[in-house]
Amino acid sequence: MKRYQSQIHRCFRCGYCKFPTDYSAYNCPAYSRFRFDTYSTGGRLWLIYAWLKGEVPWSEHLAEILYTCTTCKNCVEQCPMKFAPEIVDWIIEARSDMVEQGKIPARVKRFLESVYNYGNPLKKTAAERLPWTKGLKKYKEGTQYLLFLGCLASYEEATREMVENCVKALDEAGVSYGTLGDDETCCGNEVYAMGEMELSKQLAEKNISKFKELGVKSVITLCPHGYNIMKNQYQNMGYPFEVLHYSQVLAKHADEIARKVEGEVKGKKVTYHDPCYLGRHNKLYETPRKAIAAHNGFELVEMPRNRRDAFCCGGGSGNFINDYLAGSKDSPARIRVREAAETGAGILAVACPGCLIMLKEAVKTENLEDRLQVMDLATVIAKSK
Ligand code: SF4
Ligand code: SF4
Repeated sequence: MKRYQSQIHRCFRCGYCKFPTDYSAYNCPAYSRFRFDTYSTGGRLWLIYAWLKGEVPWSEHLAEILYTCTTCKNCVEQCPMKFAPEIVDWIIEARSDMVEQGKIPARVKRFLESVYNYGNPLKKTAAERLPWTKGLKKYKEGTQYLLFLGCLASYEEATREMVENCVKALDEAGVSYGTLGDDETCCGNEVYAMGEMELSKQLAEKNISKFKELGVKSVITLCPHGYNIMKNQYQNMGYPFEVLHYSQVLAKHADEIARKVEGEVKGKKVTYHDPCYLGRHNKLYETPRKAIAAHNGFELVEMPRNRRDAFCCGGGSGNFINDYLAGSKDSPARIRVREAAETGAGILAVACPGCLIMLKEAVKTENLEDRLQVMDLATVIAKSK
């Protein structure tokens, strides 16, 4: 991290990184939650700088401040400096230094130990995979796609409909797919974002070696976090393969699974929440919208903060479990569901199991259950007849 010290010093603390393009609101989720500059990008960078120079000692609280960053990349979009593309890498690098020194906050330690011991952050054994994931076909050589579920979709009850309806859409699209079943292990994206580079590499190697053994050529991920690490890191590890997020498959096969919108979603407006790891990290803004718009009868309305200006749900970088931004009406997920409800939409569509869990919970906390249903894209489509 020391090698970045002089660049960090060039941060003006001007604060552009806190806002969306039109400066209409605070758009750094950590700053929105705590409203102290040390939780904003510039403040956080200066905190790292002071720590590197030995001006402030390490403390659990200092480390927690670093881990309130969800790696959402709003700052990367908004900072006017040449170093903007590197900002999140610096934050991750500082975390990596802390990991190496064994100086990480308790929740982060628990998360990493669980992935190390169980292959997932939820301390679940392979036998505890949820029943509807066990019923899925196993991948065998010659199958078109490997369906990579990811840890949340494998173990979290709240993602049940998402998994079932994705599979239904793939069946309707007429593609062949199979899962790794008990052999799937954590993709390593959050572990990397938390600065545990070595463990993240080991997880990637384990998954890649399974892909190789089975001759996998094409992977569909349910989770944008898995999509991100496979697209941007696995590809450079000696076994190139195609990576698709399930929204791309839904959009591509929209004709085969097309609906005239009926049933419980008829007449409801839909608003779409861009997941940071699909949107800002990988620039997939239009494809998920296309997946909804292809179905005759949906009215898509946008929240004021959308696409590159979307407001993070607060779940990135393992916060869908660690949740360092919870506990306030200013918690990002609660802000986001209020924003969604203000559009008049009855459905908040998401494309990430992490966003699904965070935003569903926030709808309950905000007592918006009568007005707003949170559903992933495949569920929105499945409920349209
Ligand atoms: S990170 Fe960029 S936008 Fe944010 S305070 Fe520093 S120079 Fe300004
Ligand atoms: S990546 Fe997101 S949460 Fe982290 S400092 Fe930048 S804007 Fe804030």
